[in-house]
Amino acid sequence: MSKKYVNIDNSTRPAGDDKYKKIIEQISKDDVCPFCEEHLLKYHKNPIIKSGTFWTLTTNMYPYKNSKYHFLIIHKGHITTTKDISKDAWLELYETINWIENEYDISGGTFFMRCGDTSKTGASVTHLHSHLVTPDKDKPGYEPVIARIG
Ligand SMILES: [Zn+2]
Repeated sequence: MSKKYVNIDNSTRPAGDDKYKKIIEQISKDDVCPFCEEHLLKYHKNPIIKSGTFWTLTTNMYPYKNSKYHFLIIHKGHITTTKDISKDAWLELYETINWIENEYDISGGTFFMRCGDTSKTGASVTHLHSHLVTPDKDKPGYEPVIARIG
């Protein structure tokens, strides 16, 4: 199966939930990029919070376990590496992160972006996107949020 748009190998989630994997398998069969603008609303049902020139801000439909907020900042054009992010797009990304932190009163969290070969990044979707994740420290039985790399 093609890893052109998604990587099924990276679609497993802890706790044996295979819901996400089944969705990635379907997207792989559909052979489309789920994060390109013309397909995003078909596969992504969470509201678009903010739409800039270069990035779309939304939340992850499948947030990592023990996260309070799990934002996705998706590059609008189909690129897969940080090398293809323009200086103007980097600036807008910086502004978007600041906007999120202010709007949601975020005092701590983790920002990351998987880029390039998905066999090395752990990304399930190749289309470049970044994550801003905050832990739900007040949740009973809280354990740290775990993110896959590689
Ligand atoms: Zn795409």
